[in-house]
Amino acid sequence: MRIITGSPGETEHIGFKLGTFLKSSARTKTVMLYGDLGTGKTTLIKGIASAFGISGRDVGSASFVMVAEYETEPPFYHIDLYRLERPEAVDAVGIWEYIDTGGIAVIEWAERLSGVPDNAVKVHIKHLSEQEREIIIDGVDREALMAGGEV
Ligand code: ADP
Ligand code: MG
Repeated sequence: MRIITGSPGETEHIGFKLGTFLKSSARTKTVMLYGDLGTGKTTLIKGIASAFGISGRDVGSASFVMVAEYETEPPFYHIDLYRLERPEAVDAVGIWEYIDTGGIAVIEWAERLSGVPDNAVKVHIKHLSEQEREIIIDGVDREALMAGGEV
């Protein structure tokens, strides 16, 4: 599905919808985010995290912290691969240990991962203008996202 947002708040709201879907889904545990710097990946993740009771204030641009771990139920991992340009380097730091092990993993710069986890949702964000972003979500249909229910 394709959505255009006109403000950071709207992008966060889409994130919240996606987070609500993740909470109710038995099989989707990973979100792969693709998009240039400043497109809104972290903003979307603030919304996803809020569905798990994590305050947006606690969600940073985790560029210096590779994995920010929140002790929610299920555990929530915000992974940012910005600093790791090569997939071999990503594998070497053990990122796969956070994926598909019962927690929710949300990954910025996901193209740097050496593979795509099963049942992952893929989100591509593109800068259209100062306030507008195109968000393409693959792996969830519009009805499931808007209802927050199971696919
Ligand atoms: P990334 O994690 O992709 O580098 P951030 O979420 O940290 O991006 O930053 C996105 C920036 O773009 C923020 O400064 C935010 O205020 C701004 N922005 C403007 N319009 C939007 C929008 N529609 N959606 C998301 N962010 C937006
Ligand atoms: Mg970011």
